[in-house]
Amino acid sequence: MQKHDVRVGRSYAGLGLFAAKDFKKGDRVIEYVGDRVTPEEADKRGGMYLFEVTDRITIDGSARTNIARYINHCCKPNCEAWNIKNRIYIVALGSIKKDEELTYDYGSEHFLEHIAPHGCKCPSCRAGGKPLHSK
Ligand SMILES: [Zn+2]
Repeated sequence: MQKHDVRVGRSYAGLGLFAAKDFKKGDRVIEYVGDRVTPEEADKRGGMYLFEVTDRITIDGSARTNIARYINHCCKPNCEAWNIKNRIYIVALGSIKKDEELTYDYGSEHFLEHIAPHGCKCPSCRAGGKPLHSK
């Protein structure tokens, strides 16, 4: 799990994060890093890159050094965010080939608040798939 395992590139949503090598199922692709703040502080900061770790810790991943923030949502993702000892890792759900775009499910709360109002434009939905979350 190193920085050059992934690269930022053009995606359906502007920028996205892509595999720069092959991954196999269960591989930790990258860690989601940032300031670790309380829920109150997270509410004050707001933004699109808050990641709730526990009910007392939220990561503010808005810093540019957190390249995991470039990973886009997909309703048929190839990665999943795992909490491993209260650190957040993006883990491969299956084998991922070099140059594939990395995606994970942002979760229903984020989806309904930020994505659903504009219609989900992920590759799965654009291909006629069903959005993963609905009200
Ligand atoms: Zn979608």
